[in-house]
Amino acid sequence: MPNKIKTVRRPTSVVTGAAGFLGSHLTDLLLARGHRVIGIDNFITGSVDNIAHLAGNRNFKFIQQDVTEFLFLNEPVNYVWHFASPASPVDYLEFPIQTLKVGSLGTHKALGLAKEKGARFLIASTSEIYGDPLVHPQTEEYWGNVNTIGPRGCYDEAKRFAEAMTMAYHREHKVATRIVRIFNTYGPRMRLHDGRVVPAFISQALTNKPITVFGDGKQTRSFCYVSDLIEGIYRLMMSNYSLPVNIGNPVELTMVQFAEAIIKATKSRSKIMFKPLPQDDPKQRKPDITKARKLLKWEPKVKLADGLAKAINYFHGKV
Ligand code: UDP
Repeated sequence: MPNKIKTVRRPTSVVTGAAGFLGSHLTDLLLARGHRVIGIDNFITGSVDNIAHLAGNRNFKFIQQDVTEFLFLNEPVNYVWHFASPASPVDYLEFPIQTLKVGSLGTHKALGLAKEKGARFLIASTSEIYGDPLVHPQTEEYWGNVNTIGPRGCYDEAKRFAEAMTMAYHREHKVATRIVRIFNTYGPRMRLHDGRVVPAFISQALTNKPITVFGDGKQTRSFCYVSDLIEGIYRLMMSNYSLPVNIGNPVELTMVQFAEAIIKATKSRSKIMFKPLPQDDPKQRKPDITKARKLLKWEPKVKLADGLAKAINYFHGKV
């Protein structure tokens, strides 16, 4: 008698923004956990370099498409992860309309795909929905303080719309949805010139150029290493919780402290140079992660010094 052939069913995940910083790390994790991944990206801020190592992987398929256009897939889908969006303040200043469109029309298309396929859906939302927060640290119950017409409004409002649309599909169409609010994240595959503070400070430090701290540098952020973040997001998708969950690292630093940490980690001769603060730059940001701890049994593990060493190593080859 011939041996019985054991068929192992692989879940299929669709990742929008698969060539981006977070989308590509998520894709790697899903492949490692036995998923088949269909990645979609239009490369406006994503890069083919982030997925080049997947060429020839039979469990990965790539579609170059703008996700604001109708998404047609002629196969079953189990999970939709909507990560496509410009995400750095410099990028969304350059692409304000695409940013609004991918958060609104793109979320609608991605939700429509999930509904059609009976798939579970997760939206990559953001701490930016809290705006310049008046509650600190930020809990998921806080509604935010956003300037709708300011330079960051295109991103903040697109993501707020995306959350509202996600809840509407959940309530109206009973789609199983998840909302993650992502706080500042760093690691390999960030773009050197995306304008965000981590690549900016590291590239300046590695070349012994002045570190450009905006404003008086007393504004705070809390930085999560990418592997911690992606693990938290994966756990959220696999949970049964449909309200928003903050995922981020609660260790809070001023931008001057952060500049000093990077100077030390790179053994740089750079000095701090103060530059004007961009409009509506949030004064403080730190996630309250009580929910993630309780519901997902998740908390960040990678210490800033260890994460920075990995990020610095990546940027070494790029500057
Ligand atoms: N920042 C800075 N120097 C830079 C880039 C950014 O001091 O060269 C500051 C920025 O003003 C903000 C913080 O670093 O207070 C984080 O900025 P980023 O653009 O990384 O993201 P944000 O958290 O503002 O979305």
